[in-house]
Amino acid sequence: MSRTVVVLLALLLVAVGGAGGGLFFALSRAEGPVIEIVRPTGLVGRSATFEATVEAPRAELLALDAVIEQDGAAHPLFSLDDPTSADMRQEGPDLVRIGRTFDRESHPELRAGAATVRVSAARPVVFGISERSTTVEVDVEVRLQPPRLAVASTFHYVNHGGSELVVYTVSPPDAASGVRVGDREYPGYPAAGAVEGAGDNLRLAYFALNHDQDLNTPIELYARDPAGNEASAQFDHRRFPRRFRRSRINVSDAFLQRVVPPIVSQAPDLADEEPDGTDEDWLDLYLFINGELRRRNRATLLELAAGTAPEMLWSGAFRQLANSQVESGFADHRTYLYNGDEVDQQVHLGFDLASTANAPIRASNDGVVVRADYFGIFGNCVIVDHGMGLQSLYAHLSSIAVSPGDAVEQGQQLGLSGQTGLAGGDHLHFAMLLHGRPVSPVEWWDPHWIEDRIRRKLRAAGTAGD
Ligand SMILES: [Zn+2]
Repeated sequence: MSRTVVVLLALLLVAVGGAGGGLFFALSRAEGPVIEIVRPTGLVGRSATFEATVEAPRAELLALDAVIEQDGAAHPLFSLDDPTSADMRQEGPDLVRIGRTFDRESHPELRAGAATVRVSAARPVVFGISERSTTVEVDVEVRLQPPRLAVASTFHYVNHGGSELVVYTVSPPDAASGVRVGDREYPGYPAAGAVEGAGDNLRLAYFALNHDQDLNTPIELYARDPAGNEASAQFDHRRFPRRFRRSRINVSDAFLQRVVPPIVSQAPDLADEEPDGTDEDWLDLYLFINGELRRRNRATLLELAAGTAPEMLWSGAFRQLANSQVESGFADHRTYLYNGDEVDQQVHLGFDLASTANAPIRASNDGVVVRADYFGIFGNCVIVDHGMGLQSLYAHLSSIAVSPGDAVEQGQQLGLSGQTGLAGGDHLHFAMLLHGRPVSPVEWWDPHWIEDRIRRKLRAAGTAGD
């Protein structure tokens, strides 16, 4: 039906019914479209997204306009007269969504400061003989200056597989910031508490060049403010290659029959498995545990790291298991052999330390217990959070003496060593984790490294009087 016909029909209806009152009633009840501005809600950055929904019966709209207004001038974001100016989608019989990005190129006239985003829409009512409109607006603040970063610490040395600390300032202080190593981000934390007289802008960030990343992976500081403005900054650093050892491990039937059944019975990932008891079945399950379960356990470590304390909970060098023998080093590349055939390859991401059976296992530094239970390949496992993304992990225990939430001091007993999980004998598998990824523990055990890489920088940042 053309609009003219509709109007004529409506007039006819009015004439026939003589119901001018009824028409008036219908008009007075009719409301304009329902508009919601989804984005932006508070801040507009150098690049921003505008998004709004408009609801009207059958999505019939006579007009739809969106602008960002500043100092009395309205700059268009969208108009129904030029629908290509934004992406417009009908999302239901009555609902339309419009969205677009806008930036300094599309809106060069925008300046830092207050602005208003305004959306107006009109729809036909009573067969189009009249219309109803709605206007919705939201006050925003335009921020065009990217965050600023300045490095405060000097001499950064990164061993492949190891850790390092950088001290820097970021402004505004509400910007998220840290160190980016390839695609991995290491957030920075307020330095107050760790650095004397630290201002609001001073940050500390541990970062690592992981063993599975290329030695030349880019390393830089990053910052993102709440308006979405980003910045990055380089800082001087040197990288040192490390040679990772290779080893071969024979997997015997006796080993499989001792190690696999307890893991199968305790790991939820394997709850549906009913081993048939053949050597082949044990080997298949072992390969699943050594590969897939190992990957899943590592993913869980990444999740666990998100709950790290934002302050430094530790002091001094981390302590190694007393009187222990190093059986296996960090990032050893292991080839697994079964009846002389190569069946698997994995990288060992901790230190294996052997002492006596059921040796007391003690916290390597002060922190808070964040996990204390059976944990896949690690068997009975305790993880202690030392704050700012740094955690220590103790695996294969025969018993556990602490619970999640317990604050522990360096040297406090966490449990007894054992051979639960994927362990060839009674030993402690010890790992240092940075934001859930294993890093070489040797550095954290070394008082000289702690002094040079951490304490020196904290002291210097304090006397710099930020
Ligand atoms: Zn180990």
